[in-house]
Amino acid sequence: MTPATPVTPAAPIDTTCELCEAAQITPWFYEDEVCWIAECEQCWVPMVVWKTHDPNPTAEVRVVLLEKLAMVVATEYGFDFYVDDHMRSIPHHYHAHARPRGGFYGHGLRRTDG
Ligand SMILES: [Zn+2]
Ligand SMILES: [Zn+2]
Repeated sequence: MTPATPVTPAAPIDTTCELCEAAQITPWFYEDEVCWIAECEQCWVPMVVWKTHDPNPTAEVRVVLLEKLAMVVATEYGFDFYVDDHMRSIPHHYHAHARPRGGFYGHGLRRTDG
């Protein structure tokens, strides 16, 4: 068993972290150098994930991440949402969910189909 040549990541990667791992397997709506945005596998809502394995972005970074999340929600989903960045299941890596207002959520929210 020879490990593949490691690619040096731009951001710190924790291989035991679900969000760092998801960075390699999830289809994304959006990606840039600081974050990626995809549908959360557990909640079926869009979430933004900071590319840095750290739970505490600066206020400036957080604002930028949430702006991008809002942009994707507007384009891909089109619902009114609130930001949920209480990181219950993965507390060590910053991410934020966009949850629909009014408690309506579930699979099939996406407005664009195919
Ligand atoms: Zn991570
Ligand atoms: Zn989720």
